[in-house]
Amino acid sequence: MKNMLNELSWDTYVLPAEALLWRADVERASGLTVHLMRDDEMSGAEGEAWSEPGLRAVVLAGAAPAPGDTMTIVHELGHLKLETQGWPHCYLCHEDARWIDWHYGLISDLVSLIEHQSFFPAMLRMGLDPYAASEADLADADVLDELRNLAPSLPLPGLKPDWAITMQLLRALLECGPQTAEAILRDAAQLGPEVRMARELSSIIRTAPQTPQGFTTAMRDCWRAMGFAEDTLCVGEEEAETPSLNILAAGA
Ligand SMILES: [Zn+2]
Repeated sequence: MKNMLNELSWDTYVLPAEALLWRADVERASGLTVHLMRDDEMSGAEGEAWSEPGLRAVVLAGAAPAPGDTMTIVHELGHLKLETQGWPHCYLCHEDARWIDWHYGLISDLVSLIEHQSFFPAMLRMGLDPYAASEADLADADVLDELRNLAPSLPLPGLKPDWAITMQLLRALLECGPQTAEAILRDAAQLGPEVRMARELSSIIRTAPQTPQGFTTAMRDCWRAMGFAEDTLCVGEEEAETPSLNILAAGA
């Protein structure tokens, strides 16, 4: 089992009515109680949604309550809710476990960004602004500083995009206001391949229907656009072959 986890009481938080319905839907569909927990060793994200056999949980990062906890809880419930609505899990399939490790963050980011398109508008209706939270994250994301520092030495035309940077640019396009997104992409103008790839992925995702089938198509279209072999992405299968990781929106 996991370590360093503390169970929290749902009563600690006053959640919007629609978010309570999301939680009820997840519990009804799974037959499981959704746990609310805090992981004081989690870093790099405000929280995670966990879905494993026999376990559903919203996990907050950090040792102490934070002002953004309600936003994080509703956000992670949003990911869990999509699963109950039939949005499939994605797996990486590759004989080399290191390849899976190297690409885990990439596919996890991509799944999250596509799913956010579906439930961020609902969060806005609840009076929570996930777009503002993304703008704030991106404003002090290390990767954007790195991007600015590295820009003059990067990459030759045709070189494969740096995926971490590409995902940050994609997040800017999908989750920031148009002016902020364009400012960020202007800063990244030297990074031709990353900017072009982020724009291509953004248009694929924006035009995808927000349904399980639309999600699957968007994932496969993005994967193809990124130049990966199609059989390395498994969507919606019960169990992936060895070795694999179950990806359900790790990260913010
Ligand atoms: Zn998310």
